[in-house]
Amino acid sequence: MAASNQSEVNIGMVGHVDHGKTSLTRKLTGVWTDTHSEELKRGISIRLGYADCEIKKCETCDEPECYTVGKKCDSCGGKLQTLRKISFVDAPGHETLMATMLSGASLMDGAILVIAASEECPQPQTKEHLMALDALGVEKIIIVQNKIDLVSEEAAVENYNQIKEFTKGTVAENAPIIPVSAHHGANLDVLLKAIQDFIPTPERDETVSPKLYVARSFDVNKPGSEIKDLKGGVIGGSIIQGALKVGDELEIKPGIKVTEGNKTHWVPIITKIISLGVGSKKLKTAYPGGLIGVGTELDPNLTKSDALSGSLAGIPGTLPETLEKMEIEPQLLERVVGSQDELVIEPLKTNEVLMLNVGTSTTVGVTVSARPDRAEIKLKLPVCADKGDRVAISRKIGSRWRLIGYGIIL
Ligand code: GDP
Ligand code: MG
Repeated sequence: MAASNQSEVNIGMVGHVDHGKTSLTRKLTGVWTDTHSEELKRGISIRLGYADCEIKKCETCDEPECYTVGKKCDSCGGKLQTLRKISFVDAPGHETLMATMLSGASLMDGAILVIAASEECPQPQTKEHLMALDALGVEKIIIVQNKIDLVSEEAAVENYNQIKEFTKGTVAENAPIIPVSAHHGANLDVLLKAIQDFIPTPERDETVSPKLYVARSFDVNKPGSEIKDLKGGVIGGSIIQGALKVGDELEIKPGIKVTEGNKTHWVPIITKIISLGVGSKKLKTAYPGGLIGVGTELDPNLTKSDALSGSLAGIPGTLPETLEKMEIEPQLLERVVGSQDELVIEPLKTNEVLMLNVGTSTTVGVTVSARPDRAEIKLKLPVCADKGDRVAISRKIGSRWRLIGYGIIL
């Protein structure tokens, strides 16, 4: 069981830019996830944002009115019972930020695909995000038909039919479609019920060795702090399996790049967990679900400015190998989505440059050999990943990386 301070499930907010992912996240959690100065200036999400909320139920009211994230029942003002604490992972919807969306998808147990009812469906990243969920094996999906306040009933029905047509034959074929207005907070009770019904907390095995996908890392010290007051480096991310405890030794891979002569290799970082937290709450043990901050003994220089994001952390000796080369079995799509003209996807070629996303890490690689059932790729930045893990494959088409499929590490 997850500790009560911690969320027990991560739900992605995905979809085309401006369709209302960040607004919906705020309505459900009270947190505006666009906090980066550049995000505020440009009005778009750039980084992954995490925000938590508790789904509660009124003991006396009927479904779905009984569901709320508030302090009292929205219909009768009565007392509430907390059902689950959940964490939303708000992904950027801009086409240039697919790598960030893909890193986020590796942390998602389920996802809400936000589609604006006020636009023709599908928009390019509506398609590309759904494909990314499919590629990375995120199968528990709810579709939100947002901005319902902006359209007439007929237009809403027409948009609903477009959604049905677009999802036919995809992983979201049977996903519930819930009309919502994030702006007015309309129909959120129905959405909360759907989250309860369709995105269950996965079964967790606490006995397996823990793995934390690092999504951020920081130096939490204020400039000019006295040396005696310096705090060690902090990493943040989601535990994918197992549990981490304060006092555990921690290994972070790939680690640090060491160059000797003209040769480079990667040395794992070993440290100790000094603290664990979610938001401002401290934990003794952390489990899968939500964004976990891990305080370490590391030199904060190593963790500043997201330097360790994309790494894998766990108990020393239990993590998979660091791969500088990777063999995968590719599963390519038929056509490129996410751009206006949907080109046919050609097989991988030898000497081709690809972008690969594995867990939270993004790397670029060159194919050394490429057969339809097996491709060998030399990586610019190594990744720490297990055999059987999924890798999202993107190819540069025009000036953009486009998701063309996925591969299974052999
Ligand atoms: P994101 O790019 O998907 O995160 O979209 P945002 O949440 O940043 O929203 C984009 C714009 O749509 C903002 O101006 C929001 O105020 C607006 N918006 C979001 N949800 C709704 C809604 O339900 N109704 C209306 N009318 N506007 C909305
Ligand atoms: Mg946003």
